[in-house]
Amino acid sequence: MPAKVAVNGYGTIGKRVADAVSLQDDMEIVGVSKMSPNFEARLAIERGYPLYATTKEVLPKFEKAGFKVHGTLENLLKEADLVIDATPEESGFRAAYEKAGVKAIWQGGEEHSLTGLSFNAAANYAECLGAKFVRVPSCNTTGLIRTLYPLDVHFGVDHVLAVLVRRATDPGDSKKGPINAIEPELEMPSHHGPDVQSVLPKLNIHTIAVKVPTTIMHLHAVSVTLKRKATVDGVLDAWRRTPRLTFVKGGEGVKSTAQIMELARDLSRSRSDLYEIALWEDGVHVVDGRQLYYFQAVHQESDVVPENIDAIRAMLELERDGRKSIERTDRSLGIPTPAA
Ligand code: NAD
Repeated sequence: MPAKVAVNGYGTIGKRVADAVSLQDDMEIVGVSKMSPNFEARLAIERGYPLYATTKEVLPKFEKAGFKVHGTLENLLKEADLVIDATPEESGFRAAYEKAGVKAIWQGGEEHSLTGLSFNAAANYAECLGAKFVRVPSCNTTGLIRTLYPLDVHFGVDHVLAVLVRRATDPGDSKKGPINAIEPELEMPSHHGPDVQSVLPKLNIHTIAVKVPTTIMHLHAVSVTLKRKATVDGVLDAWRRTPRLTFVKGGEGVKSTAQIMELARDLSRSRSDLYEIALWEDGVHVVDGRQLYYFQAVHQESDVVPENIDAIRAMLELERDGRKSIERTDRSLGIPTPAA
């Protein structure tokens, strides 16, 4: 019997995770819940996901708009083994999940303290086996962990400074800015460094963030002081054996995030998503053996999607071996498996 997964909050992240769940043979979507009867609610019905209203209060809005709903979130939770919470940050459903006795995964808008356990498939799958509540950290944090964890394993990381150039909002949003400005995050370090440490507690990392008027991707400029000497080839080789990374070359005309997303469209995946973190191969530099510099780009809407699938497998113990779960998830999403 496939595991039963509900999605609370069918927006940017929720709809992608729902589609990814439905591609797996060991889990299925039993329903999605929404606050408003909008085009995404229509999409859920068209995709065959039973639609639920989040609360009793919003239920009449769905009926009035002519949407067939199967009840409220409370009803949906009774059908599920696990709920993906992809609602905006601090929506406050933990008590409801506890009452229903259902396991839950939150997204990166939430604090680590909500669950005490943050997940990255390559770094700490085993720690989350059987867990009740887990958080998948944000797109930026996931991106940093993807490249820093293998560096720490292969060369040892002494310390990191990452400068995050953040997209202002998602492409489907027409409300948020900055419109024509660059906005520094004045908090130091930005929340991303401590967030990386929620998965890699011993990693010595500082982060600086600025928001810019783009919607398609984040870009990170990363400076890493390694404990052991490395070469550019050695670093690339370690990354090539790491799941969910992909490589681009400025020398082949990939000069910016615009060409990376063009490449992603050429892959013809669902929604043109790029689940992997894109690394500029010719932007990797090593100075004096231990000082590494690199650039990476993060497709904010989708890099956390495979992590959610692996987190489901770990928490419901559908697969005890993280590496095998990653392979299954990646095969289903069309992500190439790295060389052994
Ligand atoms: P979104 O606004 O696209 O979708 C949120 C969904 O929750 C919508 O379906 C909305 O109807 C519903 N909702 C709104 N208010 C609600 C409430 N009070 N109670 C219940 N449901 C409510 O948001 P998103 O971008 O998918 O973000 C969801 C979570 O994922 C957040 O924690 C966010 O930080 C995180 N995240 C977002 C991105 C991204 O780039 N969009 C990347 C990684 C993680």
